[in-house]
Amino acid sequence: MSELTRGELLNEGKAKKIYATSDADKVIFYFKDDATAFNAQKKGSINSKGILNNRISARFFKLLKEKDISSHYLETLSDREMLVRKVEIIPCETVVRNIVTGSLAKRLGRPDGEEISRPLVEFYYKDDALGDPLITDDHAVVFGWATQEELDELRRQALAVNDVLRPFMLERGIILVDFKLEFGRTSDGTILLADEICPDTCRFWDAKTRKKLDKDRFRQDLGEVEDAYHEIAERVGAE
Ligand code: 5GP
Repeated sequence: MSELTRGELLNEGKAKKIYATSDADKVIFYFKDDATAFNAQKKGSINSKGILNNRISARFFKLLKEKDISSHYLETLSDREMLVRKVEIIPCETVVRNIVTGSLAKRLGRPDGEEISRPLVEFYYKDDALGDPLITDDHAVVFGWATQEELDELRRQALAVNDVLRPFMLERGIILVDFKLEFGRTSDGTILLADEICPDTCRFWDAKTRKKLDKDRFRQDLGEVEDAYHEIAERVGAE
């Protein structure tokens, strides 16, 4: 167990607080129960969400590590705290989609639940004030958010994550519909998978019933939100 404890609050996001530690290369994530949707226009709280997301994210990061995909994850410190490597977040959110739904169905007028022949990777500019708009590689390069080499690496790693998580979830009766990843640069410029991977950032559908087991239950007021997070934690072996 690490000796590191929480120092100064560096940043408070919608779902997490980030604290400094005595090691300049490590920070502590504190997972909150707060939930927001539609660019924080909808606000609420999901009981135990922080605890479950901390566990589920750790489970996924450890699984990815076993498959040679590195991430910022170092250690779970407590129910709500995770020690991670400090990175400079690249402001391009990477979304991988296996099935058409959500903003993609809306934007391109495709039927919800449409199967696609291969996974789609998209980048969104991480900016709350703009509502995280969809961008092309050119936007990211021209405006200096990432180099083309970095974007190629984000795409490669995002698809590798999908190749691990999709079959892992299916074996547990869950379809990995889509998910959002964030990547950062370490002090030596290496691209590293960061943030969290949990029902806040992924869409999970029960393979038999297609019941939504993710944050869409909160976004769409479907009820049984906490139960869905528990169900995912249980099925992935994070409880
Ligand atoms: P969509 O673009 O359809 O709204 O979302 C695609 C996928 O990325 C979903 O799994 C969704 O949860 C995730 N996602 C996209 N943007 C965000 C974001 O800003 N925050 C979170 N938590 N997830 C996001």
